Amino acid sequence: MKCSQIENFSKGELQCFGNIELSPSAGILNYGQGLFEGLKAYRKHDGNILLFRPEENAMRLKMGAERMCMPSPSVEQFVEAVKATVLANERWIPPPGKGSLYIRPLLMGSGAVLGLAPAPEYTLLIYVSPVGNYFKEGLAPINLIVETEMHRATPGGTGGVKTIGNYAAVLKAQSAAKAKGYSDVLYLDSVQKRYLEEVSSCNVFIVKGNLIVTPAIKGTILPGITRKSIIDVALSQGFQVEERLVSVDELLDADEVFCTGTAVVVSPVGSITHQGRRVTYGNDGVGLVSQQLYSTLTSLQMGLSEDKMGWIVELK
Ligand code: PMP
Repeated sequence: MKCSQIENFSKGELQCFGNIELSPSAGILNYGQGLFEGLKAYRKHDGNILLFRPEENAMRLKMGAERMCMPSPSVEQFVEAVKATVLANERWIPPPGKGSLYIRPLLMGSGAVLGLAPAPEYTLLIYVSPVGNYFKEGLAPINLIVETEMHRATPGGTGGVKTIGNYAAVLKAQSAAKAKGYSDVLYLDSVQKRYLEEVSSCNVFIVKGNLIVTPAIKGTILPGITRKSIIDVALSQGFQVEERLVSVDELLDADEVFCTGTAVVVSPVGSITHQGRRVTYGNDGVGLVSQQLYSTLTSLQMGLSEDKMGWIVELK
């Protein structure tokens, strides 16, 4: 499908954070034509500022823009815009070890459109917010419930891209789970209703002995950048890794379960509840494999270990 207009993404400008003006008939407001990304900047002890694989976010945005019928910036334009925004907000980046600057790029159909069609104009805006470390004192396990009624995505839909509507789709199940004391929801596939998909905003992995398994990317789950990185880290540490269908039975029989995402990095799962049955995992909910992968990735992202993979972009 052809998008109606290609914007020149190079003419960006910095503005103070505040409300933005949009037509009431903007594509994003009426037809959900919007995509976002999420990444973090860390302050290193030598004063430098580090980004983790920002070109991966650029490529994922590109793939999503194609699906949502929007033009997208080039990888270089995206990375330059992120760098400029971070540098302009340097004073908000927490000191080393005290958190990071969360970066939210949002690509949207900002032009007015009344009948259902791609918007005639597009805007990429990037805003930031300082965030604390997700886990303040050691890793804290999360408790998930398997959702059997509602689905986050269906084959052929938009579940594989980071479009805003996917997040509206999870609000109901997530709020209900939180009201019952769970941390979040684990979704199943919408066809056979027995294979794992992902959590509302993270990917899921199971561990059995030396084997680490995660649902394969097949259009209904988000190709997480942390997921992809953890697979490489795990392989480099001698684990066997498989990307394939993972059934609920296999999940309930795992030694450890963990989730991955930009916000949580690696988050151990302490328990899973499925159809009234609760299964617990790990050592007090924090398995050794989850702990090892969390430490490896966080020290790399914070610039505390050597960047052998070439994943870190230094801003200064
Ligand atoms: N799945 C969903 C639905 C998400 O929103 C996220 C967060 N971006 C992830 C997985 C994890 O992706 P990443 O590791 O790139 O943050």
